[in-house]
Amino acid sequence: MRFVHESLPQRVCFGSGEAAGTLVRELDRLGASKVMVIAAGPGSDLAERITADVPVALRYHDVVMHVPVDVAERAREAATRCGVDALVSVGGGSTTGLAKAIALTSGLPVVAVPTTYAGSEATNVWGLTEGARKTTGVDARVLPRVIVYDAALTASLPVPMSVASGLNALAHCVDSMWAPNAHPINRAFAGEGIRALRAGLPEIVADPAGLEGRERALYAAYLSAAAFASAGSGLHHKICHVLGGAYNLPHAQTHAVVLPYVLAFNGPAMPEAEWRIADALGAGRAIDGLEDLRRELQAPRALRDYGFAESDIPGAAEAIVPVVPPSNPRPVTAGGLRRLLHAAWEGADPATMAGDEGNGG
Ligand code: NAD
Repeated sequence: MRFVHESLPQRVCFGSGEAAGTLVRELDRLGASKVMVIAAGPGSDLAERITADVPVALRYHDVVMHVPVDVAERAREAATRCGVDALVSVGGGSTTGLAKAIALTSGLPVVAVPTTYAGSEATNVWGLTEGARKTTGVDARVLPRVIVYDAALTASLPVPMSVASGLNALAHCVDSMWAPNAHPINRAFAGEGIRALRAGLPEIVADPAGLEGRERALYAAYLSAAAFASAGSGLHHKICHVLGGAYNLPHAQTHAVVLPYVLAFNGPAMPEAEWRIADALGAGRAIDGLEDLRRELQAPRALRDYGFAESDIPGAAEAIVPVVPPSNPRPVTAGGLRRLLHAAWEGADPATMAGDEGNGG
C-alpha cells in the first residue's frame, strides 16, 4: 500500500440547535469584529436568527448558483467597502461558493454554516462561471476555517431538494472510490458517508422535520466532501461539471440523475469499489443498492426533466472526453459517453450500461 493523504485544517463544530452560540464563540476565537453575513432566499431568515449576537457589519443577499464572476466581483467590492474581517455564509453550496470567491482574492476567513448536503464547506475547491464556462480551482485560502453544522437549519429544506442534495453527497462518496487520488483513507470516509446516507435519507423522507435523518445526512455531507476533496474529481464529477457549466443544469439534481449511470459503467471494472459501495448500501450489487435507494426516495430520474435536450448530447460528450481522468478504471470514448448521456437523458434502466464496452467512437 502506498499513498499520500493530506488532511485539510479546519474546525468542525456539530450540534443541532447550537449554531447561534457556536458562531459567537468561533468568531471570537478568530478575533472577528466586523462580519459579513452572506445568505439568500430561505437562508436569509435562518441567518438573521443565528447571527443576532454576532458583530455584523454587512448582510449580503446577492447569491447566484455557480457564482458568476460579476456577482463575485460585486461581493468582493462590498466586503472591501465595509472593511469586514470575517465572512459567515449561511446556505447551500451557492452561498458557500460566494464566500469562497471573496476569500480567494482577500484571504478573509470563512465560517460556513451549510443548510444543504452539497459539502462545499469541507473542500478547498472554488468555482466561478463566466458565460457558459465554469472554472474551478484549488486554493487553501477558500477552505472555511470553521464549519458549523446544525441539522435544525436543514429542517426547512424541501424533501425533493433534500433527496437531490443527499444524492449529490452520495456521488462525492462513489466517485471518491476511483478518482485520481483515491486511497484507503478517503475510501473509508466515503464508505461511512454512504452508510450514513443510506440510513438518513429515507428517515428525512419519512419525517422531514425530524432531526435524526437530517443529522445523519449532514454528518455524511462532511465525510463525502472530505473524501472528494482528498480524492479529486472522478468521471462522475467531470461529467456533471460540464453539464452544470455549459447547459446551466441544477447542480444537485444533475448529480442525482447521472450517478447510477456512472456507477453502472465503472463499477464492473473495479471490483473493490463495487464491493465497498454494495457493502455500504447493504446490497449484493452496488447498482441494485443505489437503484433501491433511489426508488425509495423517488429520486430525480432523467436529465430531460431539467432542461437538457437530446440534441445537446453529442456536444456534451465531446466536451467531456478531454477532461476524463486518465486513471478512470475503464477507457471512456465519445461513443461511450453519448450512450451514457442518452440513458441519463431519458432516465433508462442503468443496467443497460453494464454491457457497454465504452468504445465505438
Ligand atoms: P444551492 O445552494 O443553490 O441551494 C439549492 C436551493 O435550496 C436554493 O434554492 C436554496 O435557496 C435552497 N435552500 C438551501 N438551504 C435551504 C434550507 N435550509 N431551507 C430551504 N431552502 C433551502 O444548491 P446546492 O446544491 O447546495 O449547491 C450547489 C452549488 O454548490 C453549485 O454551484 C456547486 O458547483 C457548488 N458546490 C461546490 C463544491 C465545492 O467543493 N466547491 C461542492 C459541492 C457543490
